[in-house]
Amino acid sequence: MAEIHALSPRLANQIAAGEVVERPASVIKELIENSLDAGADKIDVEVDAGGIKRMRVRDNGCGISEEDLPLALARHATSKINTLDDLEGVVTLGFRGEALASISSVSRLSLTSNSSGSGAGWCASSSGREMEVELTPAAHPLGTTIEVKDLFFNTPARRKFLRTEKTEFGHLEEVIKRQALGCFDIGFQLTHNGRVIHALRKATSLAERERRVASICSPAFMENAVYIDTEAVGMRLHGWVALPTFSRSQADLQYFFVNGRVIRDRLVAHAIKQAYRDVLYGGRHSAFVLYLEVDPKVVDVNVHPTKHEVRFRDGRTVHNFLFSSLHRALADVGPKDHLHAAQ
Ligand code: ADP
Ligand code: MG
Repeated sequence: MAEIHALSPRLANQIAAGEVVERPASVIKELIENSLDAGADKIDVEVDAGGIKRMRVRDNGCGISEEDLPLALARHATSKINTLDDLEGVVTLGFRGEALASISSVSRLSLTSNSSGSGAGWCASSSGREMEVELTPAAHPLGTTIEVKDLFFNTPARRKFLRTEKTEFGHLEEVIKRQALGCFDIGFQLTHNGRVIHALRKATSLAERERRVASICSPAFMENAVYIDTEAVGMRLHGWVALPTFSRSQADLQYFFVNGRVIRDRLVAHAIKQAYRDVLYGGRHSAFVLYLEVDPKVVDVNVHPTKHEVRFRDGRTVHNFLFSSLHRALADVGPKDHLHAAQ
């Protein structure tokens, strides 16, 4: 056996990248989350070749100061938490301080930012080869632009796992859809190979929100959905649930957010499935865009780096609340008798 030695920072970052950076879509997710954490209300995403060749995320958030730029790319460097106590009530999407370090270790990354609004900003770039960061002055309005080129150019084994441009773009677009459904007060634009795919302006009123949902989930979904908004035991559930007149052969139109964060959770899935049980044919899947709001203290989001999972302090109460809210909404309008007659 060889002697024990410390991993070089670059190799450590590349190993960490294995956890968070799976494909272009995961890069976009991390970059958008950073833009949201920076308070941006306009996020432009531009990608080429499904994101494999180039991805660029531009925001109008708070920007990063010149002193902080190199730190932004360093591992375990974050502006979002200071103590373990902060982790308890974490409200930002990021907090691990790992994403940019990981992404920059497996791509050619450049970060241009301006935190003063003066029009004069700074650009930092790192080529993935070594972790040194070069700073040059650059013009940029208040906010940040991050460009990621040639993902996995230096990790051929990982690159092999990338699928076709079309498949990668599909994953990437899904990330944008989730974010756009999660943040109505943010304007999003997605451009692929020079073509604008989604142009979503800030949606404030219910009508504007419904227009956004229709453009993301299809007009047919919206036409067959009811809007619910219920509150009980310190929780609020609101959003759109499709009536049985709009069911899917796949579970591909199911969006569930907890405090603005899209999640996948067995308990949640089970509660919803139970609520639909009497009104959907077996083998058909429900469609919904739902938002659960709870006290951040009763939900743990620090379960997995990709943060799709959560752990509720009191799962039973959450399950009951979801089931009863949805069951009621569907029972009010559900054509249950008609379905049984048709079976
Ligand atoms: P985390 O988001 O977990 O803190 P990241 O590696 O994603 O870690 O980002 C590191 C730091 O860089 C952030 O804490 C933040 O201070 C800064 N940063 C990254 N992206 C942006 C952005 N778009 N606007 C402003 N600051 C940013
Ligand atoms: Mg982050």
